[in-house]
Amino acid sequence: MAASLDLSRRGLVARRAARAWKIVFVAALCVIAIGTHWPNIHVGDPTRPPDKIIHFIAFGGLAALLWQTGWVKSRVGLVLAGLGIAVVDELTQAIGIQGRQTSVEDVVAGALGVVVVVAGVWAFAPVGGIAACLRQERRRVAEQFVFARLGPWLSLLSSAVFGIAVMMPVSMLIDSRFPRPNPLQAGLVGAVLGAVLSSLIMLEALVRHTLRATVDKPRCTSCGGNALEGASCTHCGEAVDRALFIDWPEVGDMQFLRLVARPLLLGVGIVIAVAAVSMTIGALRLSYVWAARIDELLQGRAYGMTSVLDLTLVGIACTCAIRSFRKRSARRADSASEHCIACAHDLSRTPASTAQSLRRDAAGVSHSCAIGRCGECGGEFVREFSASASGA
Ligand SMILES: [Zn+2]
Ligand SMILES: [Zn+2]
Repeated sequence: MAASLDLSRRGLVARRAARAWKIVFVAALCVIAIGTHWPNIHVGDPTRPPDKIIHFIAFGGLAALLWQTGWVKSRVGLVLAGLGIAVVDELTQAIGIQGRQTSVEDVVAGALGVVVVVAGVWAFAPVGGIAACLRQERRRVAEQFVFARLGPWLSLLSSAVFGIAVMMPVSMLIDSRFPRPNPLQAGLVGAVLGAVLSSLIMLEALVRHTLRATVDKPRCTSCGGNALEGASCTHCGEAVDRALFIDWPEVGDMQFLRLVARPLLLGVGIVIAVAAVSMTIGALRLSYVWAARIDELLQGRAYGMTSVLDLTLVGIACTCAIRSFRKRSARRADSASEHCIACAHDLSRTPASTAQSLRRDAAGVSHSCAIGRCGECGGEFVREFSASASGA
């Protein structure tokens, strides 16, 4: 009964995946440092430069890559490191580079990008009890199998290129219908959205493929090999964690809609509420001094800040919706030993295996659990036995 906690940070597979992310992070850092320090660079219309959005995307993106490298372990650390990079980048532009000057708004735009990414990290942090955490860990391990190899990276890269080729012209076309279009800014936002969305879709496909493949053929979570014999890997000798390769059933369509409806409303509600507040302040600016001050602050900012604030609002609303959805599906996964996730069959009398293992939930408390199988549909579930305070 080995307490295998946070497998995902150990072993050859985890190290390879982290190394790939480190290479990508350092490359991105170099590209951004060169871009922000190149003398006399001007992009787009000089009266309406898209540089605030560039700062938002660049420093948000760097924070996201930094998190994947594993160099930073906590969200507070990520905030500090992300802000640190944005501030240092801006300050070093003041050391006498031609045509470059520091701007507080640039730092603010970069910092907002970091804030959205840290909110995303919070949204995807482990939630729920042991069954939910086990399920999330299974996915994390599958992602590492993907990121540890060159082939999937090339697939991700080509889908990102495809996304850019589709979304960039679409975004510029939509923008051209508005008064005062800014094709460069619209193209940039479209390209980033296209690259991110299409590589996320590709990643989902690759992870799902890995999840399916490892149900029948579990792989060693340490070295990635599939030469498993009994309870350990013949290649590296590491113990195989059977609980990680559970055949989790998929929730039905109706149940998925039920899980997703409230988080979706939450996200839309946040956007509407903030928009209503800012419009109210705008309407009150002639009657109240405080409203005029706030409105002035919001309206008087540098060009491009409006788009950055809008993106921040949408980003925060999305992360709240994701967090809420993950909490709800975690509750569903944790109650799966009572009612089957796939067919809702009553499992309270279905026995779980006698082999128990020790697991930690999202709060870090250890529980003893065992695996069972639904008699109706064959989907597997995890049942919790006594919680012990030993791991707290
Ligand atoms: Zn191995
Ligand atoms: Zn079932």
